[in-house]
Amino acid sequence: MNQPHIDIPVRAPSATSADDTILPFEIGALDLRGRVVRLGAAVDAILAGHSYPQPVAKLLGEAITLAVMLGTSLKFEGRFILQTQSDGPVRMLVVDFRRPGQVRACARFDKARVAELVGNGKASAANLLGQGHLAMTIDQGADMNRYQGLVALNGGSLEDAAHEYFKSSEQIPTRVRLAVAEEMSPRAGHRWRAGGLLLQFLPKAPERARVADLHPGDAPEGTPAHVVDEDDAWVEGRSMVSTVEDVELIDPALSSEQLVYRLFHERGVRVFNSVPVVAQCSCSRDSVEAMLKNFSQDDRDHMVENGQISVTCEFCSANYKFSPDEVGAAPDGEQKAARSSP
Ligand SMILES: [Zn+2]
Repeated sequence: MNQPHIDIPVRAPSATSADDTILPFEIGALDLRGRVVRLGAAVDAILAGHSYPQPVAKLLGEAITLAVMLGTSLKFEGRFILQTQSDGPVRMLVVDFRRPGQVRACARFDKARVAELVGNGKASAANLLGQGHLAMTIDQGADMNRYQGLVALNGGSLEDAAHEYFKSSEQIPTRVRLAVAEEMSPRAGHRWRAGGLLLQFLPKAPERARVADLHPGDAPEGTPAHVVDEDDAWVEGRSMVSTVEDVELIDPALSSEQLVYRLFHERGVRVFNSVPVVAQCSCSRDSVEAMLKNFSQDDRDHMVENGQISVTCEFCSANYKFSPDEVGAAPDGEQKAARSSP
């Protein structure tokens, strides 16, 4: 039989580590695909810009890493928004990722409750989040439908929530690793770094993608556990990911290519062009002005302080000031007339 002539260049993994990049890869022999994310200046700009308490910043860093990994898989231009809402001290995390690689993020939290957890040495991701949900929204623009996926936050980490989401909603065997750390150096001072790895099993035959249910914690005693023979390829991939240490995900001396090579070289791993990520907000004076003009006159009147309406962007802290007249112009004559009547 004639062998097809394919000419895929083979080379050693690059030792050059590049921060703020996403590296897609594939292990063809095992039907595995994945991405490695490495964040330096991008995650530092966002987290340092907010000056949140350390555990809140770390948690938001994990959410940023997860959103960047998932958002880059979108096949179209648009936005991917990852948002938590929960009853823990961190009420909300929002990460807004725009293709091809711009990200912004912020958190809402209860300062006193965070401080209490820190004081008790219990500021884990699970305790900070509490119970609630994680929503992932794909927004392709004004004329398109928004797609939203939801998963419960049940006292676990963001990694746990991502695993549950892919298992229950997408039925794709998926493993996610997230790591965030602070780097202190005499020369550069304090900097945040983050890294992540995503691995998915995407066999052509869907029946190979079955995974066992999580242990039914509240099932009556004696209920047999759900037993599924997981595909050998996925068992191998999953166990490789479980060996990844946090330090490997954030180490600037270990390139993303070296990491995937270290994990999967025995099976042959193929890498694709990496995608750059930058921290960038999408707010503008025009967009804030348009938003204010959509408010009712009454709402705008309540916003006036010292003769001005001041709006601060929650993502990047940019401040925009308007005179009431600038944003009070009614779209038609009606509201003006109503305003002048008693
Ligand atoms: Zn902004």
